[in-house]
Amino acid sequence: MRTILLATTNQGKITEIRELLAGIAEIISPGNLPEVFEDGESLAENAYKKARSAADFSNMDAVADDSGLFVDGIDGRPGVLSARYAGENADDNSNRQKLLAEMSKVENRKAYFSTVICLCSPSQEFEEALFFEGCCWGTISHKEMGANGFGYDSIFVPDDGDGRTFAQMSSAEKAKYSHRARAIEQFKDALLSMS
Ligand code: IMP
Repeated sequence: MRTILLATTNQGKITEIRELLAGIAEIISPGNLPEVFEDGESLAENAYKKARSAADFSNMDAVADDSGLFVDGIDGRPGVLSARYAGENADDNSNRQKLLAEMSKVENRKAYFSTVICLCSPSQEFEEALFFEGCCWGTISHKEMGANGFGYDSIFVPDDGDGRTFAQMSSAEKAKYSHRARAIEQFKDALLSMS
């Protein structure tokens, strides 16, 4: 079985990807990877920077992801800046409050979450790396609903659901629609076709 290094310290992501790739790839995730400054202009650039740095550091194939929320009515913001939308010291709550305030007079509340996963070998250029994208369309609610999840979950209602926000769903329910689960599925299909 192929061994792939996952460049993240987020335990939730490690568990999720390990479960979905069980029997297909062994996912390892050392805690001592060099820090990467996520200043790319796209999710793909940031995912590549993280995967490439980890691959070069470990001399192994490495995988990394980057996600964001893109809102139609405000030109795709917060987008690649989703994690620090309210500034360098932002947290999930301040990011949500900033977005809700900005949306107060905006009619078009359509939005999508996107995750890009990059698989990269040591020294591989951006053009040679492999990318997998998962997307989930929905609507930004007018107020927060639900207490589960993280980030923008309490203000995002997925189109394929039943009108509840991601934060009103269990993690298993959210995984049926989520951008991250869909990107991991694409990655899984690619690994299966390579083996
Ligand atoms: P990351 O690249 O997965 O760390 O995601 C960057 C930021 O996007 C997070 O800090 C969240 O603000 C937001 N985000 C990504 N995925 C989700 C999600 O599934 N629910 C809510 N917010 C998310």
